Amino acid sequence: MIKVFTHIVVVTFAAMLIPIYALDNTENLTSHEHGSSELTIVIEKQSVEIELISPAANLVGFEHVATRKEDINKVHKAVADLRQHDTLLLLSGGHCAHKDTSIELNGLISEKQHHHHNKSAHDHSHTHNHTHSHDHKHANKHNDIVAHYRYHCEESSLQSLSLTNLFKSFPGINEVKVMWVKPTKQGADKLSLKDPMVRFK
Ligand SMILES: [Zn+2]
Repeated sequence: MIKVFTHIVVVTFAAMLIPIYALDNTENLTSHEHGSSELTIVIEKQSVEIELISPAANLVGFEHVATRKEDINKVHKAVADLRQHDTLLLLSGGHCAHKDTSIELNGLISEKQHHHHNKSAHDHSHTHNHTHSHDHKHANKHNDIVAHYRYHCEESSLQSLSLTNLFKSFPGINEVKVMWVKPTKQGADKLSLKDPMVRFK
């Protein structure tokens, strides 16, 4: 009976995640609130998935499509910082190993510019960026950045997660609303630099 119940909890939680993750049009996100970010943690047997959803404003200071070099650099800096999983996400217990990270910029930067940058850091000679985007984004459109982290844990004894360095790396994040679920329990918490740790118990 307990097993059935926990299964339902996990399924319910997963069902909540899907629409958020699959959303292209972030205007539909009701939770978009500058200064506030959301973190969802799903602990299932030996797998831990952590998803951070944040208004781009919190991470790069703007939400329009980055066309100026200065703005593009801010986006690249934020992506590089978000990839520092072992710094940003301090996991305690469980002997968890990081498997992969994916970061969704939701059109904040054009793919062309992104790849261009990755090819060569010194190849910035194009003065005419053809950034007339075909997706007709409005200048005042809100935008979210989503970072997804996946871990494999040797033991199912993950105890806590501290976001101290996340708050320090991104001063634009004032609070993080955390939702977590594991097979036996789930919880919610509101974290800040002063109170940066969530305990899974
Ligand atoms: Zn916004």
